Amino acid sequence: MTVAVYPGSFDPVTLGHMDIIERTARMMDHVVVGVLQNSSKTPLFSVEERVEMLKKGTSFLDNVEIRAFNGLLVDFVHDCGANVIVRGLRAITDFEYELQMAHTNRVMAPDIDTIFLTTNLNYSYVSSTIVKEIASFDGNLEAFLHPDIADMVKRKARKGIDRK
Ligand code: ADP
Repeated sequence: MTVAVYPGSFDPVTLGHMDIIERTARMMDHVVVGVLQNSSKTPLFSVEERVEMLKKGTSFLDNVEIRAFNGLLVDFVHDCGANVIVRGLRAITDFEYELQMAHTNRVMAPDIDTIFLTTNLNYSYVSSTIVKEIASFDGNLEAFLHPDIADMVKRKARKGIDRK
């Protein structure tokens, strides 16, 4: 059985992330989407909210599971009984960091391989950071996010604007 882990911050989950999840689910027996809790970034959404969003968004995929994790990715991958890490590549700018992480993880855990899926061209420019920026100016998010997620992001962003 091939089990893969797709790790990330997913703050919030975008259509680009969803595309990678769906394509991975078609290739693997089981996919664990790992939602990073101890990121150095301060997230807009709590880890519980991000897990909830992903659970809703992937409920139609019966071989996808959503779990929060802390600490070293390779430990989480072992804990999931997986031996593949999936990452998405949007542009050459992603590549250098991703290659460094893949090498580092391979040295720490030689039994785990990292595979890269190139982005769907329709979403190649989509990032959680840009989405949050657009939301902070009350822009239209429908090209980047599932409508339910877009509503959640808008509500959060509005709270932020009201506090200013
Ligand atoms: P990070 O893990 O750096 O916090 P994210 O949560 O934004 O980043 O993304 C998780 C993974 O999804 C990364 O491998 C990232 O390159 C990939 N990814 C993000 N946006 C897209 C997209 N639009 N298309 C394909 N892959 C993407």
